[in-house]
Amino acid sequence: MNLNYPAEAEAFRAEVRSFLAQHLPDGWTGIGALDRDDAEEFTIRWRRTLSDNGLLGLSWPKEYGGGGRTKLEQVVLAEELARACVPFGRLTDTTSVKMMGNTLVRWGTEEQKQHFIPRILSGDDIFVQGYSEPNAGSDLAALSLRADRDGDEWVLNGQKIWTSRAYEGNWIFVLARTNPDVAKHHGISFLLCPLETPGVEVRPIRMLTGESDFCEVFFTDARIPIGNVVGEVDGGWKVAMSLLGHERGEEAAINPILFRAELDRLLQLARDRGRDRDPVIRDRLAWCYTKVETLRFLGYRILTQYLRSGELGPEASISKLFWSEYHQRAVDLAMQILGAAGMVREGPRPLRYFRPDEPGAPNSTNSWIDVMLLNARAGTVYAGTSQVQRTIIGEQILGLPKEPVPS
Ligand SMILES: Cc1cc2nc3c(=O)[nH]c(=O)nc-3n(C[C@H](O)[C@H](O)[C@H](O)COP(=O)(O)OP(=O)(O)OC[C@H]3O[C@@H](n4cnc5c(N)ncnc54)[C@H](O)[C@@H]3O)c2cc1C
Repeated sequence: MNLNYPAEAEAFRAEVRSFLAQHLPDGWTGIGALDRDDAEEFTIRWRRTLSDNGLLGLSWPKEYGGGGRTKLEQVVLAEELARACVPFGRLTDTTSVKMMGNTLVRWGTEEQKQHFIPRILSGDDIFVQGYSEPNAGSDLAALSLRADRDGDEWVLNGQKIWTSRAYEGNWIFVLARTNPDVAKHHGISFLLCPLETPGVEVRPIRMLTGESDFCEVFFTDARIPIGNVVGEVDGGWKVAMSLLGHERGEEAAINPILFRAELDRLLQLARDRGRDRDPVIRDRLAWCYTKVETLRFLGYRILTQYLRSGELGPEASISKLFWSEYHQRAVDLAMQILGAAGMVREGPRPLRYFRPDEPGAPNSTNSWIDVMLLNARAGTVYAGTSQVQRTIIGEQILGLPKEPVPS
């Protein structure tokens, strides 16, 4: 493992830094310092700035409107955006740009790439992720959304659940069963469905915090053109699995930066609340520091492999397991530092629902309560639960015997 980036990556880093210096407002301290409305407005403008300068879809081919740069440069950009405390796009860009865009670049037909990629970059098309179902989460291949062929159309019937921000999207990519007569992994197709299709209904789910970030999506005789399939008919499993890799790609680089920023905030919280001389709190803060450093080195390891092979191996599961379980203990410490004050909500609420609050956020109780109550709890569930990560690590890295499959 080489911990230094090559000279050309450092040259690109300098370019990004000068771009940020030119385009960020004076006195910028991070997106977390803005209130929700201002943050939303800033993010929309910022996304356009990134897109106009070829920085959204940086490693996608130029002929479709991408930046034509390397994966390493993409990682450098992600690091610099995280350091400058600016988002790479809107929350839906995790599913739209990172997941769907990258998947189309890899698996889409020429026509699909020509049509969708510029529209994803411009934000005209926003894709959300329709994988999970009430009876198919960890065991995703058990999904039962049906897509039956009728002439030139697929007819969709069934339900998806936990679809993040479905109310903000205009497209959903779904895994649907197109052949019920073969083994479960082999009869699945990866389909694209406009959310405005008659027969598609989005119902927001109310969460612990009282807000609604994810939804149920119902399909009742919803008809889409036969050509709205990515990859081969009945061959959607391969496409679906490669998409999950994109969820983890840049995380390896930016997680250590985000968690370090959160740890700095936690240290400040301990000082502000006069708890930084308490030996037990100090011991736990030191523990957090060692974990964030370990996360950094784990990140380098995963990145090295990703940049060499273009793929993320099972090692990415170590990082997912590590950060999500670390985070629950770190926010638990924040609540211990806050003590009784942690029962009183004050200050702005977090801008996002995943991982730490945005860098630059004030040390308000609302920030820690929401991160504690919801984000950190959900971290060991979304993108593969801790139990599933442990199985992957056991079977695919340690070579332990396979988990028995109940018949
Ligand atoms: C915040 C958030 C956002 C999400 N966004 C989306 C989205 O946009 N689109 C989407 O499609 N999905 C989304 N999901 C769903 C997510 O992918 C699933 O919740 C996840 O895959 C787990 O599935 P499940 O909830 O059905 O739990 P289950 O799979 O039913 O698991 C329940 C429990 O059983 C354990 N378990 C299951 N199988 C095994 C096994 N073989 N061995 C050991 N233990 C096992 C699990 O670890 C877990 O503890 C989101 C989830 C969250 C929390």
